[in-house]
Amino acid sequence: MKEIILIKNGELALKGLNRSSFEDVLVKNLRYRLKKCGECEINKSQSTIMVEPSNDEFDFKSALKATEKVFGIAAFSKAAALPKNMEDIIREGVPYLADALKNVKKFKVESKRSDKKFPLGSLEISAQFGAALLSKYHHLSVDVHDPDAVVVVEIRDKYAYVRCGQIKGAGGMPVGTGGRAEILISGGIDSPVAAWMMAKRGIQLAAVHFASPPYTSTRAEEKVHRLLSQVAKYSGPIPLHTIPFTEIQEQIAEHCREEYFTLIMRRFMMRIAEKMALKEHCGALITGESVGQVASQTLPALNVTNSVVSMPVLRPLIGMDKDEIIDISRKIDTFDISIEPFEDCCTVFTPKHPKTRPELQKCIEAESELDIEALVDRAIQGAQFMMID
Ligand code: ATP
Ligand code: MG
Repeated sequence: MKEIILIKNGELALKGLNRSSFEDVLVKNLRYRLKKCGECEINKSQSTIMVEPSNDEFDFKSALKATEKVFGIAAFSKAAALPKNMEDIIREGVPYLADALKNVKKFKVESKRSDKKFPLGSLEISAQFGAALLSKYHHLSVDVHDPDAVVVVEIRDKYAYVRCGQIKGAGGMPVGTGGRAEILISGGIDSPVAAWMMAKRGIQLAAVHFASPPYTSTRAEEKVHRLLSQVAKYSGPIPLHTIPFTEIQEQIAEHCREEYFTLIMRRFMMRIAEKMALKEHCGALITGESVGQVASQTLPALNVTNSVVSMPVLRPLIGMDKDEIIDISRKIDTFDISIEPFEDCCTVFTPKHPKTRPELQKCIEAESELDIEALVDRAIQGAQFMMID
């Protein structure tokens, strides 16, 4: 018996004339994500996308797992694809539902007949299939008003489909429909969550990471790779540039007032990220900042770091509590990686008394000793590229 995946679009259904092109992006993303599961056909019709394995080698279980991580999908279900006659639908469809109906007491059958040539009407299909379920599974009874489960029999062009229950999708919009943005990724808890949240809104990601060897280790960089590859399971491949940041941090430490270290460093990160974003055709930056979390994330501090860039800076975590952020990081499996104890460049040269109410003018004075442009250019020239998948 052939088993397929039936996918219902999420918010896509609301997008009017764009809908078809959004669906095309979703199909393309699905196709990419299911490639490793084997050969299959992916078709769309009437706001449903169907994944049909081409042969028995197709790894159906991994395909379901991968589908769960594709943005733009509200819900999906597995279904039996059966020959279009009532006898076969009952003979194969009833045992197919054994598992799905195991813990169900009350059920109802809903039938849809998009193939109008099918000899039975939808009420007859429901009645016959329901009777067959009752005679095989004695723990069941019919309740059309308050069922525990709805069994669906759908007669379409090629096959009749039988299914029960659905799996919640990742929601959001298909990645690629929202343009591109550059995530500033650290090894912490917040930035991978921020990246995931923007990918969920359909934004395709590019990433920059600042590393300060020998103050930071290669293990810290590998940690960032693993974090991003976790995010990439949802977002698709992420081009990553790792930027050498040692010289900049040493220069700041040598020439600038200590209480402004962190802010000046963050200003350098933003300047470099914006330049990388332009190279990567990104229209915005993304950070994992959240108001009040640390000294550099007070409103005056955010203002000071923000003022060196003109691109919009997306901060999806800005109003979230740490536990809310941690909940998401657990859900997307980045938490355990994030808490591994490898030093990030932010922990190098941290001032004892960082400014929580910095003044922009004083910050500009503090960094005036530095040849900002030359430092930025050299850092960018030293960027190392890697594609994270
Ligand atoms: P995170 O958990 O994401 O590291 P955080 O709460 O530790 O965030 P900061 O260290 O102040 O906050 O960093 C704020 C934001 O700046 C991060 O969310 C991230 O977007 C960016 N950032 C910090 N360090 C780096 C780095 N080494 N490389 C790239 N971006 C960074
Ligand atoms: Mg950090």
